Amino acid sequence: MTFNDNARLDPSKVKRRRRTATGIGVGGGLGAIALVVISQLVGIDLTGLAPLLGGGSGTSQQDPGTSPEECRTGSDANANVECLVVGAATSLDDYWAGAAATVGADNYTTPGVYTFDGSTDTGCGAATAAVGPFYCPPDTSIYLDTAFYDDLRSKYGSSGGPLAELYVVAHEWGHHIQSLTGVLERSQDGDTGPTSNGVRVELQADCYAGAWASAAAGTKDVNGNPLLEQITDAQLTDALSAAAAVGDDRIQGTTANSESWTHGSSEKRQKWFTAGYNGGPTACDTFAPATP
Ligand SMILES: [Zn+2]
Repeated sequence: MTFNDNARLDPSKVKRRRRTATGIGVGGGLGAIALVVISQLVGIDLTGLAPLLGGGSGTSQQDPGTSPEECRTGSDANANVECLVVGAATSLDDYWAGAAATVGADNYTTPGVYTFDGSTDTGCGAATAAVGPFYCPPDTSIYLDTAFYDDLRSKYGSSGGPLAELYVVAHEWGHHIQSLTGVLERSQDGDTGPTSNGVRVELQADCYAGAWASAAAGTKDVNGNPLLEQITDAQLTDALSAAAAVGDDRIQGTTANSESWTHGSSEKRQKWFTAGYNGGPTACDTFAPATP
């Protein structure tokens, strides 16, 4: 997926936090340590777990960050991965402002999107780069560490890297939609395995990412110009690879016990991304089938 070079981005959709001198420890405590340990066990996304851990110091004490004002155009998004996050946020916000009501989120609000380097305080406790990208329900914000970008670039190359990053932002935005619909709470029963509510919630976020990817070329900048070019078949294949690459069976190894899965298998993540891509967000009821 490529941004139209002349499209206008909205830097205010993303806030960047500088590395703090003290690092981890501000409002962190046990919650922060638990987050890191659990993240090593389950992979890159702690959405269902973070709120249970507590330890957050509340948004009022947190660094508000500054918008990356250098991210102005689609050309910037194509050249710079942090600007790509700004572009993704600009497109996702436009898409979901229109689509959220179709899945029962009548009062759509824009989530916070924070990029950070090293560690940062969140409404879900302190986060480090080891945690990976996550959505924090108490402060309705997405957190992305810049080291994770570098990992994606080195793993997926210059073409797959940006697409993988877009996919990750779209997946986390999906959790924000689930927070608005109330579905996200279902993931917090602590159950795991292929038919658990936690996996259903994760697969629905993948489906929502697919729904956005399909419609992304129709999203507009402030001037009414398309933000993104239509996704190509090759890029769709790359997006599915990105979905597969973050499946629990890849992260934990194929011998991992499926009962411990929190996100779903690579195959299931691709299946639900495709369902959203082909059918839109209303095709994303991962709770309806006996096995999603
Ligand atoms: Zn997730």
